[in-house]
Amino acid sequence: MSEPVEKILQKVDLGKEDLITLIRLGPDESRLLFETAWKAKQASVGNTVYFRGLIEYSNRCTKNCYYCGIRRHNTRYKRYRLTDLEVIEAANYAYRNQFGSIVIQSGENSDRQFIETIEHLLWEINRLTNHALHITLSLGEQNEKTYRRWFEAGAHRYLLRIETSNPQLYRKLHPSDYRHVYERRLEALQTLRSIGYQTGTGVMIGLPFQTTEDLANDLLFFHTVDIDMVGMGPYIEHAETPLYHYRDQFLPLRERLELSLKMVAILRILMPDINIAATTAMQTIDPHGRERALLAGANVMMPNLTPARYKQSYLLYNDKPGIEDDAEESKEAMEENIRLTGHVIGFGEYGDSAHFLRRTKEEGRRTRDEGRGR
Ligand code: SF4
Repeated sequence: MSEPVEKILQKVDLGKEDLITLIRLGPDESRLLFETAWKAKQASVGNTVYFRGLIEYSNRCTKNCYYCGIRRHNTRYKRYRLTDLEVIEAANYAYRNQFGSIVIQSGENSDRQFIETIEHLLWEINRLTNHALHITLSLGEQNEKTYRRWFEAGAHRYLLRIETSNPQLYRKLHPSDYRHVYERRLEALQTLRSIGYQTGTGVMIGLPFQTTEDLANDLLFFHTVDIDMVGMGPYIEHAETPLYHYRDQFLPLRERLELSLKMVAILRILMPDINIAATTAMQTIDPHGRERALLAGANVMMPNLTPARYKQSYLLYNDKPGIEDDAEESKEAMEENIRLTGHVIGFGEYGDSAHFLRRTKEEGRRTRDEGRGR
């Protein structure tokens, strides 16, 4: 029999069995979990929410992940890439509105033109905004040289979701070819970290074939790789993907959301000073899903700054919200909802991961001590 929840939540180190118990909590017992996560958040990162203006740069992708609406073999979408001017305008909007940060996200591409354009945009955005924005890239797997080029051009953070820490499950979600190799993704996370990026990853929650033990292992994975930021949320199906054939095995959407909120809360307790995103997928299931994620322990939100005419073509999953909104509407609605949860918005702040700042300080101190022969 597992221990009482009160006792588990008082532990300094949570083991796998503890995590499984917490993930399985019913609605009544979850209340204590959420209260504990809220206290952990207040004590570590406070009640500030940081904005990341999201720019969905391109829906062209060389990959074919079985769950993703913009996978290469889905011919339904018109493929686009934003012009440099459109990216600069979106970044400028974030700058004028004191967002402090942007995210440039795209399907995975490694052609020369793509790499050079991103590099050029990084220099330009930093120059035009006088380094007032910290930039997160979410551009998939690249080689070390490319990661370095982009870092030197002024990228600060890199988000590369592992989607699941279970290699067998990963193989069920991706084609078995050289483009979709689990181990390469792990290596990429290590490379990003060694270059100096604030490194982020994430998983989908409520996937077919996924077990509670998988989810507990995902949480332990974040801890073991000492990640700086996490973006995770419910798996939401897209009808034009291979994974949709297994729809009779999907959990109800509500259950996927509740599981995701518990995962956010447990992660906040496990790694109190990391950045955790309240993801758009949560809002797809519940219009207040992202605000609920903030109350569960998240501290980052991503207003979508992609020009409205492209949003229809960046549908990673069914019913993605906000595709009709323009940037101003998305921002105003989000600000109001955040205030209602009792949070403040960190306008003009980079909102870097406190975990990253602490670990790099400690690493610097260790290196100096070793240099002095201590
Ligand atoms: S999940 Fe990313 S890499 Fe995979 S198909 Fe979609 S956009 Fe491409």
